[in-house]
Amino acid sequence: MHPFQYQRAESTDQAVAAVAQNPGATFIAGGTSHVDLLKEGVHRPTLLVDVSALPLQQITPLAGGLRIGAGVSNTAAAYHPTIQQQYTAVSEALLAGASVQIRNVASMAGNPLQRTRCPYFRDPTQACNKREPGSGCAALNGYNHVHALFGASTACIATHPSDVAVALAALDAQVQTSGPTGPRTIVFPELHRLPGTTPHLDTVLAHGELITSLDLPAFAGRSHYLKVRERASYAYALVSCAVALEMNGQTIRRVRVALGGVAHKPWRLHKMEAMLAGQVPTEKLFRTAADAAFADAKPLAHNAYKIPMGRNLLVRALLETSGLRPLAGPAGTAFAASVGGMAGQLAGPR
Ligand SMILES: Cc1cc2nc3c(=O)[nH]c(=O)nc-3n(C[C@H](O)[C@H](O)[C@H](O)COP(=O)(O)OP(=O)(O)OC[C@H]3O[C@@H](n4cnc5c(N)ncnc54)[C@H](O)[C@@H]3O)c2cc1C
Ligand code: SF4
Repeated sequence: MHPFQYQRAESTDQAVAAVAQNPGATFIAGGTSHVDLLKEGVHRPTLLVDVSALPLQQITPLAGGLRIGAGVSNTAAAYHPTIQQQYTAVSEALLAGASVQIRNVASMAGNPLQRTRCPYFRDPTQACNKREPGSGCAALNGYNHVHALFGASTACIATHPSDVAVALAALDAQVQTSGPTGPRTIVFPELHRLPGTTPHLDTVLAHGELITSLDLPAFAGRSHYLKVRERASYAYALVSCAVALEMNGQTIRRVRVALGGVAHKPWRLHKMEAMLAGQVPTEKLFRTAADAAFADAKPLAHNAYKIPMGRNLLVRALLETSGLRPLAGPAGTAFAASVGGMAGQLAGPR
């Protein structure tokens, strides 16, 4: 492992200054993602600034919504009663990720900032523009079954791995930060970037910009998260889907939908959202909408299976959120969030 120094931050300002002043410094929170990358030689920082002891560990009400401190553990957020009841997709997405042990340590800011699971990124013997800009992309002509359907570039076809990021994107969470130039707010769907010609940049955060909280705006509808993976637990999403639905009587007032596992960022379906607003929910409507949502997908050599899988998952998520089909398990549980392994999903309709 590359040698580095370690410093425990005692205040937010101190953490920001320590990283901002040193181009080789990074923050570390739970370390569940960062330490693996250090061991694999993918990350080579000269200084780790530990933010896990900062007073960012509260979940508090905020103007009808909820403020989740950056340091709140994934477990504490997943089982918080307001998150389970009012922001169910967030709880379901957290419980669908990693393992109990990892969730107990992993932080709410660290989770959406974890890096891609593209296997070539994690293997320093392979060409990877994200790890080493200008070196090429081994996945383009390699085995790209977990890679992107939307928004990819010739420089990078990786997908973003976080489950909870997909739910936060559908709920239009706001990211509060403190950085070298002061505080700012970033709406969640704009936190992550598409790869373009700079795939080494995953987010719009500046060097030394610390996330202090994730704020969930007031929401009185239903939300739901579903994930398809190769194993029923301890595996990343091949495709996932978060829906936030608000009804006006029998018609859809507003629906927001994000897909995971298909792009370099949580992929919001804005056109489909506009198409569904004002409609009465039916399975036929949802199937037509899902077909439209995947019409622009650009499959690679090994990931075309994600198109029928994604369409089916999207229809199922819309049916379950609107109540047209019962949930497979109690809302806010890992069971509700999972549709089982890949084979089960492929055996579904269409
Ligand atoms: C075996 C395994 C399986 C997993 N499976 C899943 C899964 O199925 N789904 C899923 O979503 N995740 C999964 N994960 C990933 C896990 O959720 C993340 O590792 C974890 O959430 C990261 O949180 P952390 O606090 O440990 O972050 P760290 O590892 O400490 O940091 C991650 C990144 O966030 C940055 N960072 C941390 N805090 C801040 C802050 N406040 N402001 C700015 N930057 C910050 C760090 O600099 C670093 O770049 C898995 C992990 C493992 C090891
Ligand atoms: S897809 Fe992106 S992360 Fe994977 S090898 Fe190519 S450049 Fe690297």
